Amino acid sequence: MNNLGIKWKIFFSLLGFCVILLIFLWLFQVVFLVDFYKSIKVSEIENSGKLIENKLNSEDAEEYIKQISKDYQLCVEVVSADGKTIHSAHSPVDCAILKLTPMQKTNIFAITKVKNGNLIEYINEDIMRKNKPPHRVEQSIIYTKAINTNKGEVMLMLNSVISPVNATITTLKTQFTYIIFIMLAFATVAGIFISKKVSKPIVEVNKSAKSLSEGKYDITFNGTGYKEIKELSNTLNIAAKELSKTEELKKDLIANISHDLRTPLTLITGYAEVMRDLPGENNSENAQIIIDETKRLTTLVNDVMDISKLQSGTTDLNLSEYNLTLSLNHTVNRLNRMLNKEGYTISFYSDEEVTLRADESKISQAFYNLLINAVNYCGADKTVEVRQTVTQKEVRVEVTDKGEGIEEANLPYIWDRYYKVDKIHKRAVTGSGLGLSIVKGIIEMHKGNYGVNSTLNKGSTFWFTLPL
Ligand code: ADP
Repeated sequence: MNNLGIKWKIFFSLLGFCVILLIFLWLFQVVFLVDFYKSIKVSEIENSGKLIENKLNSEDAEEYIKQISKDYQLCVEVVSADGKTIHSAHSPVDCAILKLTPMQKTNIFAITKVKNGNLIEYINEDIMRKNKPPHRVEQSIIYTKAINTNKGEVMLMLNSVISPVNATITTLKTQFTYIIFIMLAFATVAGIFISKKVSKPIVEVNKSAKSLSEGKYDITFNGTGYKEIKELSNTLNIAAKELSKTEELKKDLIANISHDLRTPLTLITGYAEVMRDLPGENNSENAQIIIDETKRLTTLVNDVMDISKLQSGTTDLNLSEYNLTLSLNHTVNRLNRMLNKEGYTISFYSDEEVTLRADESKISQAFYNLLINAVNYCGADKTVEVRQTVTQKEVRVEVTDKGEGIEEANLPYIWDRYYKVDKIHKRAVTGSGLGLSIVKGIIEMHKGNYGVNSTLNKGSTFWFTLPL
Protein backbone atom coordinates (compact mmCIF):
# COMPACT_ATOMS: atom_id res chain seq x y z
CA MET A 1 0.00 0.00 0.00
CA ASN A 2 2.92 2.35 0.77
CA ASN A 3 4.19 2.15 -2.76
CA LEU A 4 0.84 3.07 -4.25
CA GLY A 5 0.61 6.47 -5.90
CA ILE A 6 -1.54 9.17 -4.33
CA LYS A 7 -4.13 8.68 -7.09
CA TRP A 8 -4.74 5.05 -6.21
CA LYS A 9 -4.62 5.72 -2.50
CA ILE A 10 -7.39 8.29 -2.77
CA PHE A 11 -9.36 5.99 -5.06
CA PHE A 12 -9.14 2.97 -2.75
CA SER A 13 -9.85 5.09 0.33
CA LEU A 14 -13.03 6.40 -1.25
CA LEU A 15 -14.10 2.95 -2.31
CA GLY A 16 -13.29 1.53 1.13
CA PHE A 17 -15.28 4.29 2.80
CA CYS A 18 -18.24 3.47 0.59
CA VAL A 19 -18.04 -0.25 1.38
CA ILE A 20 -17.88 0.42 5.14
CA LEU A 21 -20.92 2.69 4.81
CA LEU A 22 -22.82 -0.03 2.97
CA ILE A 23 -21.90 -2.65 5.57
CA PHE A 24 -23.21 -0.42 8.36
CA LEU A 25 -26.39 0.27 6.44
CA TRP A 26 -26.89 -3.47 5.87
CA LEU A 27 -26.34 -4.30 9.52
CA PHE A 28 -28.73 -1.68 10.84
CA GLN A 29 -31.39 -1.87 8.18
CA VAL A 30 -31.52 -5.62 7.62
CA VAL A 31 -29.69 -7.72 10.19
CA PHE A 32 -30.66 -5.88 13.38
CA LEU A 33 -33.95 -4.48 12.14
CA VAL A 34 -36.18 -6.87 14.14
CA ASP A 35 -34.21 -6.37 17.34
CA PHE A 36 -34.32 -2.61 16.96
CA TYR A 37 -38.02 -2.66 16.27
CA LYS A 38 -38.67 -4.85 19.32
CA SER A 39 -36.58 -2.73 21.66
CA ILE A 40 -38.35 0.42 20.43
CA LYS A 41 -41.74 -1.24 21.05
CA VAL A 42 -40.68 -2.34 24.53
CA SER A 43 -39.53 1.12 25.53
CA GLU A 44 -42.72 2.57 24.05
CA ILE A 45 -44.91 0.24 26.09
CA GLU A 46 -42.90 0.92 29.26
CA ASN A 47 -43.17 4.67 28.80
CA SER A 48 -46.92 4.45 28.19
CA GLY A 49 -47.19 2.35 31.36
CA LYS A 50 -45.44 5.07 33.37
CA LEU A 51 -47.67 7.79 31.93
CA ILE A 52 -50.84 5.85 32.85
CA GLU A 53 -49.48 4.96 36.29
CA ASN A 54 -49.05 8.68 37.11
CA LYS A 55 -52.67 9.36 36.15
CA LEU A 56 -54.35 6.35 37.76
CA ASN A 57 -55.55 8.25 40.84
CA SER A 58 -56.97 11.20 38.93
CA GLU A 59 -60.60 11.49 37.87
CA ASP A 60 -59.93 11.56 34.16
CA ALA A 61 -57.90 8.33 34.31
CA GLU A 62 -60.37 6.54 31.99
CA GLU A 63 -60.15 9.32 29.38
CA TYR A 64 -56.38 9.39 29.58
CA ILE A 65 -56.06 5.63 29.19
CA LYS A 66 -58.22 5.76 26.08
CA GLN A 67 -56.07 8.52 24.62
CA ILE A 68 -52.83 6.63 25.26
CA SER A 69 -54.30 3.44 23.82
CA LYS A 70 -55.23 5.36 20.67
CA ASP A 71 -51.93 7.24 20.36
CA TYR A 72 -49.71 4.21 20.80
CA GLN A 73 -51.94 1.49 19.33
CA LEU A 74 -52.10 -0.37 22.65
CA CYS A 75 -54.63 -2.39 24.60
CA VAL A 76 -54.80 -1.29 28.21
CA GLU A 77 -56.48 -3.05 31.12
CA VAL A 78 -56.47 -2.08 34.76
CA VAL A 79 -57.62 -5.01 36.91
CA SER A 80 -58.13 -5.48 40.62
CA ALA A 81 -56.56 -8.25 42.69
CA ASP A 82 -59.58 -10.53 42.16
CA GLY A 83 -59.35 -10.19 38.36
CA LYS A 84 -62.12 -7.58 37.90
CA THR A 85 -61.61 -5.00 35.13
CA ILE A 86 -61.50 -1.40 36.41
CA HIS A 87 -60.46 0.40 33.21
CA SER A 88 -60.21 -1.02 29.73
CA ALA A 89 -59.22 0.45 26.34
CA HIS A 90 -58.18 -1.36 23.19
CA SER A 91 -56.97 -0.27 19.85
CA PRO A 92 -55.68 -3.31 17.91
CA VAL A 93 -58.72 -5.57 17.66
CA ASP A 94 -57.25 -8.90 18.66
CA CYS A 95 -55.39 -8.09 21.83
CA ALA A 96 -54.28 -11.18 23.73
CA ILE A 97 -55.13 -9.67 27.12
CA LEU A 98 -58.77 -9.24 26.16
CA LYS A 99 -59.16 -13.00 25.94
CA LEU A 100 -57.90 -13.64 29.46
CA THR A 101 -60.30 -14.96 32.11
CA PRO A 102 -60.44 -13.22 35.53
CA MET A 103 -58.74 -16.33 36.94
CA GLN A 104 -55.83 -15.98 34.48
CA LYS A 105 -55.57 -12.28 35.29
CA THR A 106 -55.33 -13.06 39.02
CA ASN A 107 -52.54 -15.51 38.26
CA ILE A 108 -50.62 -12.99 36.19
CA PHE A 109 -51.11 -10.44 39.00
CA ALA A 110 -49.49 -12.87 41.42
CA ILE A 111 -46.56 -13.57 39.08
CA THR A 112 -46.05 -9.82 38.47
CA LYS A 113 -45.85 -9.18 42.21
CA VAL A 114 -43.26 -11.91 42.62
CA LYS A 115 -41.17 -10.51 39.73
CA ASN A 116 -40.29 -7.10 41.23
CA GLY A 117 -43.76 -5.71 40.46
CA ASN A 118 -43.48 -5.64 36.67
CA LEU A 119 -43.21 -8.08 33.80
CA ILE A 120 -42.49 -8.14 30.05
CA GLU A 121 -43.78 -11.20 28.16
CA TYR A 122 -43.83 -12.05 24.47
CA ILE A 123 -46.55 -14.35 23.20
CA ASN A 124 -47.05 -15.76 19.73
CA GLU A 125 -50.62 -16.00 18.52
CA ASP A 126 -52.26 -17.63 15.55
CA ILE A 127 -54.59 -14.99 14.25
CA MET A 128 -57.55 -15.32 11.95
CA ARG A 129 -58.64 -11.98 10.66
CA LYS A 130 -60.89 -10.86 7.93
CA ASN A 131 -59.16 -9.85 4.69
CA LYS A 132 -55.88 -11.26 5.93
CA PRO A 133 -54.34 -14.62 5.14
CA PRO A 134 -55.29 -17.18 7.79
CA HIS A 135 -52.78 -18.60 10.24
CA ARG A 136 -50.79 -15.48 10.43
CA VAL A 137 -48.61 -15.54 13.49
CA GLU A 138 -48.35 -12.27 15.35
CA GLN A 139 -46.25 -11.54 18.33
CA SER A 140 -47.62 -9.58 21.26
CA ILE A 141 -45.69 -7.80 23.94
CA ILE A 142 -47.42 -7.80 27.26
CA TYR A 143 -46.34 -5.46 30.00
CA THR A 144 -47.78 -5.70 33.48
CA LYS A 145 -47.20 -3.69 36.61
CA ALA A 146 -48.58 -3.90 40.12
CA ILE A 147 -49.52 -0.43 41.41
CA ASN A 148 -50.87 0.86 44.73
CA THR A 149 -53.75 3.29 44.14
CA ASN A 150 -56.31 4.91 46.43
CA LYS A 151 -58.68 2.06 45.45
CA GLY A 152 -56.21 -0.56 46.67
CA GLU A 153 -53.62 -2.55 44.78
CA VAL A 154 -54.32 -2.91 41.05
CA MET A 155 -52.52 -4.37 38.04
CA LEU A 156 -51.87 -2.35 34.91
CA MET A 157 -51.73 -4.52 31.76
CA LEU A 158 -50.56 -3.19 28.41
CA ASN A 159 -50.58 -5.16 25.18
CA SER A 160 -49.01 -4.09 21.88
CA VAL A 161 -48.59 -6.06 18.71
CA ILE A 162 -45.32 -6.49 16.85
CA SER A 163 -46.29 -6.60 13.20
CA PRO A 164 -44.23 -9.09 11.22
CA VAL A 165 -41.33 -7.31 9.50
CA ASN A 166 -40.33 -10.12 7.13
CA ALA A 167 -41.98 -8.43 4.18
CA THR A 168 -40.22 -5.19 5.03
CA ILE A 169 -36.90 -6.97 5.27
CA THR A 170 -37.39 -8.57 1.86
CA THR A 171 -38.19 -5.16 0.39
CA LEU A 172 -35.16 -3.65 2.04
CA LYS A 173 -32.92 -6.47 0.81
CA THR A 174 -34.01 -5.97 -2.78
CA GLN A 175 -33.57 -2.24 -2.46
CA PHE A 176 -30.23 -2.85 -0.93
CA THR A 177 -28.95 -4.86 -3.86
CA TYR A 178 -29.74 -1.91 -6.11
CA ILE A 179 -28.20 0.54 -3.65
CA ILE A 180 -24.98 -1.52 -3.53
CA PHE A 181 -24.60 -1.52 -7.29
CA ILE A 182 -25.46 2.14 -7.68
CA MET A 183 -23.23 3.22 -4.78
CA LEU A 184 -20.25 1.15 -5.95
CA ALA A 185 -20.58 2.42 -9.50
CA PHE A 186 -20.91 5.96 -8.23
CA ALA A 187 -17.95 5.55 -5.84
CA THR A 188 -15.80 4.15 -8.65
CA VAL A 189 -16.59 7.03 -11.00
CA ALA A 190 -16.26 9.64 -8.24
CA GLY A 191 -13.08 7.94 -7.01
CA ILE A 192 -11.46 8.06 -10.41
CA PHE A 193 -12.50 11.67 -10.92
CA ILE A 194 -11.59 12.97 -7.46
CA SER A 195 -8.32 11.06 -7.23
CA LYS A 196 -7.25 12.41 -10.60
CA LYS A 197 -8.19 15.94 -9.68
CA VAL A 198 -6.56 15.83 -6.25
CA SER A 199 -3.38 14.09 -7.33
CA LYS A 200 -2.76 15.96 -10.59
CA PRO A 201 -1.02 19.02 -9.08
CA ILE A 202 1.05 16.83 -6.74
CA VAL A 203 2.09 14.57 -9.60
CA GLU A 204 3.06 17.63 -11.65
CA VAL A 205 5.08 19.22 -8.86
CA ASN A 206 6.76 15.86 -8.33
CA LYS A 207 7.67 15.69 -12.00
CA SER A 208 9.19 19.18 -11.92
CA ALA A 209 11.05 18.36 -8.70
CA LYS A 210 12.60 15.34 -10.42
CA SER A 211 13.88 17.60 -13.21
CA LEU A 212 15.24 19.93 -10.55
CA SER A 213 17.13 17.08 -8.93
CA GLU A 214 18.63 16.32 -12.31
CA GLY A 215 20.15 19.78 -12.35
CA LYS A 216 17.62 21.66 -14.49
CA TYR A 217 17.54 24.75 -12.30
CA ASP A 218 15.57 26.84 -14.78
CA ILE A 219 12.44 24.79 -14.14
CA THR A 220 9.34 26.59 -12.77
CA PHE A 221 6.80 24.97 -10.49
CA ASN A 222 3.24 25.91 -11.42
CA GLY A 223 1.35 24.05 -8.69
CA THR A 224 -2.28 25.13 -8.56
CA GLY A 225 -5.37 23.62 -7.02
CA TYR A 226 -4.78 24.07 -3.32
CA LYS A 227 -3.07 26.45 -0.96
CA GLU A 228 -0.50 23.88 0.18
CA ILE A 229 0.52 22.99 -3.36
CA LYS A 230 0.81 26.68 -4.25
CA GLU A 231 2.99 27.25 -1.20
CA LEU A 232 5.09 24.19 -2.00
CA SER A 233 5.52 25.43 -5.57
CA ASN A 234 6.57 28.87 -4.37
CA THR A 235 9.06 27.35 -1.93
CA LEU A 236 10.46 25.08 -4.63
CA ASN A 237 10.69 27.99 -7.05
CA ILE A 238 12.70 29.91 -4.47
CA ALA A 239 14.87 26.84 -3.85
CA ALA A 240 15.41 26.42 -7.59
CA LYS A 241 16.38 30.08 -7.87
CA GLU A 242 18.78 29.75 -4.95
CA LEU A 243 20.25 26.61 -6.44
CA SER A 244 20.78 28.30 -9.77
CA LYS A 245 22.36 31.25 -7.94
CA THR A 246 24.68 28.84 -6.13
CA GLU A 247 25.49 27.25 -9.44
CA GLU A 248 26.30 30.70 -10.85
CA LEU A 249 28.35 31.51 -7.77
CA LYS A 250 30.24 28.27 -8.20
CA LYS A 251 31.06 29.19 -11.78
CA ASP A 252 31.97 32.74 -10.71
CA LEU A 253 34.12 31.36 -7.94
CA ILE A 254 36.04 29.10 -10.25
CA ALA A 255 36.50 31.99 -12.69
CA ASN A 256 37.51 34.37 -9.90
CA ILE A 257 39.80 32.00 -8.10
CA SER A 258 41.52 30.85 -11.23
CA HIS A 259 41.97 34.46 -12.27
CA ASP A 260 43.21 35.41 -8.83
CA LEU A 261 45.60 32.48 -8.76
CA ARG A 262 46.82 32.94 -12.30
CA THR A 263 47.70 36.64 -11.98
CA PRO A 264 50.24 36.32 -9.17
CA LEU A 265 51.54 33.03 -10.56
CA THR A 266 52.18 34.62 -13.97
CA LEU A 267 53.95 37.50 -12.28
CA ILE A 268 56.04 35.21 -10.10
CA THR A 269 57.09 33.04 -13.04
CA GLY A 270 57.74 36.12 -15.20
CA TYR A 271 59.91 37.89 -12.62
CA ALA A 272 61.76 34.71 -11.65
CA GLU A 273 62.57 34.03 -15.32
CA VAL A 274 63.74 37.59 -15.86
CA MET A 275 65.96 37.34 -12.76
CA ARG A 276 67.35 34.01 -13.94
CA ASP A 277 68.02 35.11 -17.56
CA LEU A 278 69.05 38.74 -17.19
CA PRO A 279 71.79 39.21 -14.59
CA GLY A 280 71.01 42.96 -14.29
CA GLU A 281 67.45 42.22 -13.18
CA ASN A 282 68.51 40.01 -10.32
CA ASN A 283 67.75 42.69 -7.68
CA SER A 284 65.86 42.98 -4.44
CA GLU A 285 63.03 45.03 -6.00
CA ASN A 286 62.10 42.17 -8.29
CA ALA A 287 62.53 39.71 -5.44
CA GLN A 288 60.10 41.88 -3.41
CA ILE A 289 57.51 41.60 -6.17
CA ILE A 290 57.83 37.83 -6.07
CA ILE A 291 57.45 37.90 -2.26
CA ASP A 292 54.39 40.21 -2.46
CA GLU A 293 52.68 38.03 -5.02
CA THR A 294 53.41 34.90 -3.00
CA LYS A 295 51.85 36.60 0.03
CA ARG A 296 48.80 37.50 -2.02
CA LEU A 297 48.46 33.86 -3.02
CA THR A 298 48.78 32.78 0.60
CA THR A 299 46.08 35.27 1.65
CA LEU A 300 43.77 34.03 -1.07
CA VAL A 301 44.23 30.38 -0.16
CA ASN A 302 43.77 31.21 3.55
CA ASP A 303 40.58 33.17 2.84
CA VAL A 304 39.09 30.29 0.89
CA MET A 305 39.98 27.91 3.71
CA ASP A 306 38.55 30.25 6.37
CA ILE A 307 35.28 30.83 4.63
CA SER A 308 34.69 27.17 3.89
CA LYS A 309 35.39 26.35 7.54
CA LEU A 310 33.06 29.14 8.74
CA GLN A 311 30.32 28.11 6.35
CA SER A 312 30.48 24.44 7.19
CA GLY A 313 30.37 25.27 10.88
CA THR A 314 33.54 23.34 11.65
CA THR A 315 35.32 26.33 13.18
CA ASP A 316 35.36 26.47 16.97
CA LEU A 317 35.81 29.69 18.88
CA ASN A 318 38.90 29.83 21.02
CA LEU A 319 37.49 32.15 23.69
CA SER A 320 39.66 34.07 26.12
CA GLU A 321 39.47 37.27 28.14
CA TYR A 322 41.62 39.94 26.43
CA ASN A 323 42.09 43.68 25.98
CA LEU A 324 40.31 44.49 22.73
CA THR A 325 41.50 48.13 22.63
CA LEU A 326 45.14 47.08 22.81
CA SER A 327 44.61 44.38 20.21
CA LEU A 328 42.92 46.80 17.77
CA ASN A 329 45.66 49.36 18.33
CA HIS A 330 48.27 46.71 17.67
CA THR A 331 46.70 45.77 14.31
CA VAL A 332 46.43 49.46 13.34
CA ASN A 333 50.10 50.04 14.19
CA ARG A 334 51.22 46.97 12.27
CA LEU A 335 49.35 48.14 9.16
CA ASN A 336 50.57 51.70 9.61
CA ARG A 337 54.18 50.49 9.63
CA MET A 338 53.52 48.58 6.40
CA LEU A 339 51.65 51.34 4.59
CA ASN A 340 53.09 54.61 5.86
CA LYS A 341 55.71 54.43 3.12
CA GLU A 342 52.93 54.43 0.53
CA GLY A 343 51.38 57.50 2.12
CA TYR A 344 48.49 55.84 3.98
CA THR A 345 47.53 56.94 7.51
CA ILE A 346 45.30 54.97 9.78
CA SER A 347 44.23 56.73 12.96
CA PHE A 348 42.78 55.00 15.99
CA TYR A 349 40.43 56.59 18.52
CA SER A 350 38.99 54.82 21.56
CA ASP A 351 36.86 56.19 24.38
CA GLU A 352 38.06 53.67 26.97
CA GLU A 353 40.03 50.47 27.25
CA VAL A 354 37.78 47.49 27.08
CA THR A 355 38.30 43.84 27.96
CA LEU A 356 35.97 41.15 26.67
CA ARG A 357 35.69 37.43 26.17
CA ALA A 358 36.14 36.50 22.52
CA ASP A 359 38.36 34.68 20.05
CA GLU A 360 41.18 37.21 19.72
CA SER A 361 42.70 35.93 16.49
CA LYS A 362 39.31 35.74 14.75
CA ILE A 363 38.23 39.23 15.85
CA SER A 364 41.62 40.56 14.73
CA GLN A 365 41.11 38.88 11.37
CA ALA A 366 37.65 40.45 10.93
CA PHE A 367 39.00 43.86 11.92
CA TYR A 368 42.00 43.43 9.61
CA ASN A 369 39.68 42.58 6.68
CA LEU A 370 37.72 45.80 7.25
CA LEU A 371 40.95 47.81 7.53
CA ILE A 372 42.43 46.33 4.35
CA ASN A 373 39.18 47.04 2.47
CA ALA A 374 39.21 50.63 3.73
CA VAL A 375 42.83 50.98 2.56
CA ASN A 376 42.05 49.36 -0.78
CA TYR A 377 38.99 51.48 -1.47
CA CYS A 378 39.97 54.82 0.14
CA GLY A 379 41.26 56.14 -3.16
CA ALA A 380 43.47 59.25 -3.30
CA ASP A 381 42.46 60.33 0.20
CA LYS A 382 44.65 57.62 1.76
CA THR A 383 43.32 58.15 5.29
CA VAL A 384 41.38 55.65 7.35
CA GLU A 385 39.85 56.25 10.78
CA VAL A 386 39.12 53.61 13.36
CA ARG A 387 36.81 54.35 16.29
CA GLN A 388 36.06 52.19 19.27
CA THR A 389 33.14 53.17 21.53
CA VAL A 390 31.76 51.39 24.55
CA THR A 391 28.17 51.32 25.80
CA GLN A 392 26.78 49.40 28.77
CA LYS A 393 26.12 46.25 26.81
CA GLU A 394 28.47 46.28 23.87
CA VAL A 395 31.55 47.63 22.21
CA ARG A 396 31.34 49.13 18.73
CA VAL A 397 34.21 49.28 16.26
CA GLU A 398 33.96 51.54 13.19
CA VAL A 399 36.30 51.72 10.20
CA THR A 400 35.78 54.82 8.06
CA ASP A 401 37.28 55.80 4.71
CA LYS A 402 36.50 58.69 2.39
CA GLY A 403 36.92 56.75 -0.80
CA GLU A 404 34.70 55.54 -3.56
CA GLY A 405 31.79 54.31 -1.40
CA ILE A 406 29.27 51.73 -2.50
CA GLU A 407 26.12 52.17 -4.52
CA GLU A 408 23.03 51.65 -2.40
CA ALA A 409 21.74 48.92 -4.71
CA ASN A 410 24.88 46.86 -4.06
CA LEU A 411 24.87 47.23 -0.28
CA PRO A 412 22.81 44.11 0.52
CA TYR A 413 25.13 41.88 -1.50
CA ILE A 414 28.62 42.90 -0.38
CA TRP A 415 28.46 40.46 2.56
CA ASP A 416 27.86 37.54 0.22
CA ARG A 417 30.64 35.15 -0.66
CA TYR A 418 32.68 36.06 -3.75
CA TYR A 419 30.71 39.23 -4.30
CA LYS A 420 32.67 42.08 -5.80
CA VAL A 421 31.01 45.34 -6.76
CA ASP A 422 33.55 45.93 -9.46
CA LYS A 423 33.98 42.68 -11.24
CA ILE A 424 36.80 44.01 -13.37
CA HIS A 425 40.05 43.42 -11.59
CA LYS A 426 42.20 46.39 -10.91
CA ARG A 427 45.79 45.73 -10.14
CA ALA A 428 45.75 47.90 -7.05
CA VAL A 429 42.68 46.27 -5.63
CA THR A 430 42.74 42.54 -5.70
CA GLY A 431 40.58 40.80 -3.21
CA SER A 432 39.18 37.34 -3.04
CA GLY A 433 35.67 38.69 -2.62
CA LEU A 434 35.60 36.79 0.65
CA GLY A 435 36.80 39.43 3.12
CA LEU A 436 33.37 40.71 4.20
CA SER A 437 31.72 37.31 4.33
CA ILE A 438 34.51 36.20 6.66
CA VAL A 439 33.77 39.29 8.81
CA LYS A 440 30.08 38.38 8.79
CA GLY A 441 30.76 34.75 9.77
CA ILE A 442 33.10 35.71 12.63
CA ILE A 443 30.85 38.43 14.08
CA GLU A 444 27.79 36.19 13.85
CA MET A 445 29.67 33.46 15.73
CA HIS A 446 30.30 36.00 18.49
CA LYS A 447 26.60 36.99 18.55
CA GLY A 448 27.49 40.52 17.49
CA ASN A 449 26.06 42.82 14.82
CA TYR A 450 27.66 44.29 11.75
CA GLY A 451 26.79 46.77 9.04
CA VAL A 452 27.83 49.56 6.77
CA ASN A 453 26.87 53.16 6.01
CA SER A 454 28.10 54.22 2.63
CA THR A 455 27.58 56.99 0.11
CA LEU A 456 28.87 56.71 -3.41
CA ASN A 457 32.05 58.79 -3.90
CA LYS A 458 31.92 60.04 -0.29
CA GLY A 459 33.20 56.99 1.55
CA SER A 460 32.03 54.20 3.81
CA THR A 461 31.87 53.35 7.48
CA PHE A 462 31.97 49.62 8.18
CA TRP A 463 31.12 48.68 11.78
CA PHE A 464 30.64 45.74 14.06
CA THR A 465 29.58 45.36 17.67
CA LEU A 466 30.41 42.68 20.22
CA PRO A 467 28.45 41.95 23.39
CA LEU A 468 30.27 42.64 26.64
P1 ADP B 1 37.13 41.99 -1.76
O1 ADP B 1 38.13 40.96 -1.52
O2 ADP B 1 36.72 42.12 -3.19
O3 ADP B 1 37.40 43.28 -1.11
P2 ADP B 1 35.11 41.83 0.24
O4 ADP B 1 34.19 40.75 0.64
O5 ADP B 1 36.05 42.29 1.28
O6 ADP B 1 35.83 41.37 -1.05
O7 ADP B 1 34.25 43.03 -0.23
C1 ADP B 1 33.19 42.85 -1.13
C2 ADP B 1 33.00 44.09 -1.98
O8 ADP B 1 32.51 45.15 -1.15
C3 ADP B 1 34.27 44.60 -2.57
O9 ADP B 1 34.54 43.99 -3.80
C4 ADP B 1 33.99 46.07 -2.74
O10 ADP B 1 33.33 46.32 -3.97
C5 ADP B 1 33.04 46.39 -1.61
N1 ADP B 1 33.73 47.05 -0.51
C6 ADP B 1 34.20 46.47 0.60
N2 ADP B 1 34.73 47.40 1.43
C7 ADP B 1 34.61 48.60 0.82
C8 ADP B 1 34.97 49.96 1.14
N3 ADP B 1 35.57 50.28 2.29
N4 ADP B 1 34.65 50.94 0.26
C9 ADP B 1 34.02 50.62 -0.89
N5 ADP B 1 33.67 49.38 -1.26
C10 ADP B 1 33.95 48.38 -0.41
